[in-house]
Amino acid sequence: MADSSAFDGALGVPDTLGRALRDLRISVTDRCNFRCSYCMPAELYGRDFAFLPHAEVLTFEEIARLAAVFTGLGARKLRITGGEPLVRRDLPVLIAQLALLRCADGEAVDLTLTTNGSGLRPLAEPLSGAGLRRITVSLDSLDDAVFGAMNGVDFPVSRVLDGIAAARSAGLTPIKINTVVRRGLNEASILPLARWARDEGLILRFIEYMDVGHSNSWRLDDVVPASEILAIIDGELPLEPAAAGYRGEVAGRYRYRDGSGEVGAIASVTRPFCGDCTRARLAADGMLYTCLFAVSGVDLKTPLRAGATDTELAALVRSVWTSRGDRYSELRSAATSTLPKIEMFALGG
Ligand code: SAM
Ligand code: SF4
Ligand code: SF4
Repeated sequence: MADSSAFDGALGVPDTLGRALRDLRISVTDRCNFRCSYCMPAELYGRDFAFLPHAEVLTFEEIARLAAVFTGLGARKLRITGGEPLVRRDLPVLIAQLALLRCADGEAVDLTLTTNGSGLRPLAEPLSGAGLRRITVSLDSLDDAVFGAMNGVDFPVSRVLDGIAAARSAGLTPIKINTVVRRGLNEASILPLARWARDEGLILRFIEYMDVGHSNSWRLDDVVPASEILAIIDGELPLEPAAAGYRGEVAGRYRYRDGSGEVGAIASVTRPFCGDCTRARLAADGMLYTCLFAVSGVDLKTPLRAGATDTELAALVRSVWTSRGDRYSELRSAATSTLPKIEMFALGG
């Protein structure tokens, strides 16, 4: 009988619920220059917070090697994230290495990056030149007071907009915008953001505020359901449902009825999509997590640094994925929410 691993790349390694490994999120740093209240609140992540020491963070060569192992197992999409990925020095060097990777069928990998946009102006061209295809920028409001309060460091909206303009000029398109909505903070920003993104031709995705990690003191009351977000937009700019782009797409997509574009809402809390979740997460320290709400991960850095071969690393990842049964959001309950979780900036949002 043929070695079943030969089929991994084409069919994708299935987990216990039949979900193939298709996406890898790679966190290149746990550090960030923002202190978003829903992710790294300033009161908990002060000057003396112990981020990962340099030696614990995967090098670019280590990341590229592991990424190749994942593409060999069927991953087709690589998303660079963090922390804030643009604070990692020489990031275009890593992008150039990852851009060379091929999916198992020989196609180029879909290589993208999520950023808070603050450092995009000088980096957009070098990232594009290195082979980055497109980009997602997180932006929670167009109002400086609201945005400043949410990013925790009074970072001005204008500089993120300037970063988006730089990304557009550099051809990092289509540009997606991620907006987390938190009750009492930025509901009033929903409509202005929707109008702006539509006028600018940007793909806007609203995200329900999630109970990742522990430090954001999450309460269900703080979640603005996707249905409410869409109703706010529909009241002013009428919407109709659009078909999902691909299996595993997490955003519910809606078209403006006047044909002027689309908007999405990611209902991770109110309409979980674990059944289609094909994502693995590689943290900056080389830990592999199979769920955003993971309570533990598997260390890939130690075997990698001990000289494991690609075949051995692939066997390890394969065994982790084939025993995966995560569906936290579907099981979200008082019982599970008391378990220790890993913070989002640490495992790569
Ligand atoms: N620093 C980059 C950024 O903000 O785009 C990349 C990392 S960040 C952890 C990735 C995404 O996770 C961002 O779009 C952010 O808004 C989102 N995020 C962080 N904490 C969240 C939470 N508690 N609920 C929902 N989304 C969250
Ligand atoms: Fe930093 Fe992104 Fe987390 Fe905000 S959401 S604190 S920008 S990692
Ligand atoms: Fe995937 Fe875990 Fe989120 Fe479910 S809760 S969609 S398994 S990351």
